[in-house]
Amino acid sequence: MLGYAYWGQKCPRRILGRVTVRALLAEKKHAFSFEYFPPKTEQGERSLFETVRAMKSLDPAFVSITCGAGGSTKRKTLDWAAKIKHEIGIEVVVHMTCLGRTRDELVGEIEDARSEGIENLLALRGDGGPPAPDGEVCKFAIDLIRIIEETFPAACTLGACYPEGHVDAENRELDLRRLKEKCDAGLDVLVTQLFFDNAHYFSFVDRARAIGIEQPVIPGIMPVTDVAQVERFTKMCGATLPRALMASLEGQTKEDVIKIGVEHASRQCAELLAHGAPGIHFYTLNKSPATRMVVEALR
Ligand code: FAD
Repeated sequence: MLGYAYWGQKCPRRILGRVTVRALLAEKKHAFSFEYFPPKTEQGERSLFETVRAMKSLDPAFVSITCGAGGSTKRKTLDWAAKIKHEIGIEVVVHMTCLGRTRDELVGEIEDARSEGIENLLALRGDGGPPAPDGEVCKFAIDLIRIIEETFPAACTLGACYPEGHVDAENRELDLRRLKEKCDAGLDVLVTQLFFDNAHYFSFVDRARAIGIEQPVIPGIMPVTDVAQVERFTKMCGATLPRALMASLEGQTKEDVIKIGVEHASRQCAELLAHGAPGIHFYTLNKSPATRMVVEALR
């Protein structure tokens, strides 16, 4: 459990009612959401709590809390989600990873989320993680989606998708067919991997609709604030960086990189929303300024 007694004093626990992301998307014209990861240090925890609280003024539809590979942060992820939901008063999505994990373990984790009043779950495969225990274990996100569907049918289940294709997929067509299987297994909402060229999102959504995927597809956006970092991330997840964007960032000061990154993300978001995206999911990396600037520019 997170050990900040003073949080409880400053922010009395108010049990929020049950709200699903599905319902929030239907209700809000443009639903903004912010993704955070559970910090490793006490200083990080203090700073994240303040960041989330300050970002509440931007009226996010929900925030989501990531989970380490193999479920390594599962208790912390859930504690953060419960604190944000009940003490700060923002709806939450809990990320769950299933690769190498048993059904019993995952059923227990789903039950823990339900008992905290959380019913929005982002069902993921994850990458790597600790050695798998003996017995039957999950291999793909669809295994977890089926477990959620069987054990917590009232949950709103979100899933990941990849406008430029997933790095392990043999080809984009097969990747999309597997996404359709995930959707048919019980997904309510899709959230995309980050991308920097909207053409990828628009053509992906067209291809998804053409094969009968009807779920809302929330685009995932990360304003560039650090060139080396974005190069590292995109290499890992297979997203591409437009040449013109990279050229404009070359040789710039730290401040100018942030300015250019925010301008690019703001243009991306404005175009996505104008052309029917249901909202924007921001990869915040636990920092607020760049995301705040983009949301304020949009409003
Ligand atoms: P899957 O949907 O299982 O797909 C993984 C790959 O397997 C794809 O190439 C797919 O085509 C293929 N595949 C699917 N089904 C089959 C099948 N039956 N047979 C053969 N191949 C198949 N990672 C974390 O560790 N923690 C997080 O909190 C986290 N949050 C994320 C949030 C978002 C919005 C996104 C987009 C990603 C997130 N990730 C996170 C990263 C994610 O775990 C990785 O991208 C992972 O490699 C794939 O997860 P998935 O759920 O998309 O997997």
